[in-house]
Amino acid sequence: APDRARSSNLYRRGQRVFPAGVSRATIEKDPLPIYLERGEGAYVVDVDGNRLLDLNNNFTTLIHGHGFGPVVEAIGDVLRQGTCFANPMEHEIALAELLVSRIPAVEHVRFVNSGTEAVMYALKAARAFTGRSSIVRFEGAYHGAYDWAEAGQNGVGESGVSGRRLPKLGYTGAPKAIADSVIVVDFNDASGLDAAIAPVAADIAAILVDPMPSRAGLLHPSADFIAALSATARKHGILIIADEVLNLRQGFAGASARYGLEPDLVVAGKIIGGGFPIGAVGGRADIMAVFGADDKAPLVSQGGTFSANPVSMIAGRIAMEALTPGAFDRLEELGDRVRSGLAQVISKRGVPFSVSGAASLFRVHPKKDLPANYRAAQMSAQEASTMRALSRHFLAHGILLPFGAAACLSTPMTTAEMDRIVAVFDDFLAQGEPSDGD
Ligand code: PMP
Repeated sequence: APDRARSSNLYRRGQRVFPAGVSRATIEKDPLPIYLERGEGAYVVDVDGNRLLDLNNNFTTLIHGHGFGPVVEAIGDVLRQGTCFANPMEHEIALAELLVSRIPAVEHVRFVNSGTEAVMYALKAARAFTGRSSIVRFEGAYHGAYDWAEAGQNGVGESGVSGRRLPKLGYTGAPKAIADSVIVVDFNDASGLDAAIAPVAADIAAILVDPMPSRAGLLHPSADFIAALSATARKHGILIIADEVLNLRQGFAGASARYGLEPDLVVAGKIIGGGFPIGAVGGRADIMAVFGADDKAPLVSQGGTFSANPVSMIAGRIAMEALTPGAFDRLEELGDRVRSGLAQVISKRGVPFSVSGAASLFRVHPKKDLPANYRAAQMSAQEASTMRALSRHFLAHGILLPFGAAACLSTPMTTAEMDRIVAVFDDFLAQGEPSDGD
């Protein structure tokens, strides 16, 4: 087994200063966190000297992998010239121009520091523009930590007065009123959508939708579902907010364009910062005017000490410029190769697994048939233990495979890495399912 002595020591130190020993809830600890020393393109090196293929890429952020040359070079100068200012710079205009030119729904844009913040401002903008306060979101989709965005990310709970199943709130003690203003519906449920919305439509500001929500299964949106969502939104004067924080990486124009969704607002993050903290909300100019117009005070005040800092702006623009249509095509070919390779191994061995995803993303499910939605994608204890064993098997073979979320590719990867992923999966299946203690 690989040596983890240094990681183990660092974890003991971390346990003295962090709740649960780590700095983020999302850090995998099975059985202990793996502390990294550095990254090198598609790989990371841990503090014990193990080299690992990185299929996490900081939760799908690093589409060019680690230490991307053009970004490293450009950032060197920025560090000497100053990393944040209270005045605007040309760099933020250049990144905004790139997003406006690529993403059809984006006419105007504002930058913030995280996807959470960007989702929050998109929801505030929709509320200010419509004068309504409720939102619709899809069960199990992750949209960051804003109270209204996280309600429903772990499903629905008890019934409310209306008989409607209320979203589980993000944390114990969250105001119950949040649940009353968040309508949770099933992803891909084209026929149920309007019925769920119509009775309360007059107070709904926005439908918040990730076109392929990772934690809800990383499932393709059906064309019927996209059509129903659009028709319902238009009929009731509800705005569509596409959360593309993760899925903008699905193509040159993003995920909505790929699936025929025409959102009013788009939220981005992750890849557009080139490896530095970022979030963005963009969309129709008349809606974005809630953040200010020449002749009006803003309806929603959006600031942020580090918003549009030159480091994120420059790194983001350079990383995005390197993502040409050809680069996206190449990532898509790699993604197709790994998804079809995994599917072939599954059918060859006749085991109850399936593979979802698109473009540079994939997710393995411990289910014979692809789940239809979040609830169907929930794992039994047995299935979860199988998936933990799978992640451990990958780790033992030098690959970081995220548990219960999207695995992602980066541009430094080649067909050799895709074939290795498939071979390691085949090897796992060949050994039979190890028990939880392995
Ligand atoms: N929305 C989606 C779809 C995401 O995947 C994430 C991050 N995983 C967020 C919002 C929140 O972004 P951040 O972590 O930058 O706050």
